[in-house]
Amino acid sequence: MKSHTEYLWFHTKTKYAFVNISRQVEEIIEKSGIKEGLCLVNAMHITASVFINDDESGLHRDFDKWLEGLAPHEPVSQYRHNNGEDNADAHLKRTIMGREVVVAVTEGRLDFGPWEQIFYGEFDGQRKKRVLVKIIGE
Ligand code: ZN
Repeated sequence: MKSHTEYLWFHTKTKYAFVNISRQVEEIIEKSGIKEGLCLVNAMHITASVFINDDESGLHRDFDKWLEGLAPHEPVSQYRHNNGEDNADAHLKRTIMGREVVVAVTEGRLDFGPWEQIFYGEFDGQRKKRVLVKIIGE
């Protein structure tokens, strides 16, 4: 069995962002030479997510509204975690949007269902954060 590990770095201009990283993950799979296996992609920071969904801007605005309804950023004093920081909402948003995805690699490509794309979800951006990509297989 072969394995290949790489890290993607993100530094978003905005506090919240959704970034389609499917192409970057596929380039890493191509580089790995692995044709059949599994690809793990996970956010390495507890205020960012990796998730799979549609690359459709209306849906992304719906996610923003839904997440802000569940865990509004303001007032920051409503959260016990905000004791010297103000990112409790980002921890909660990350938890509901998920830490990682695992996608099958078939014939050297991500074996997506219809419309599936991999996104990096940032909830407390404007600083550097990492995503791990690990591929195992043959
Ligand atoms: Zn925090």
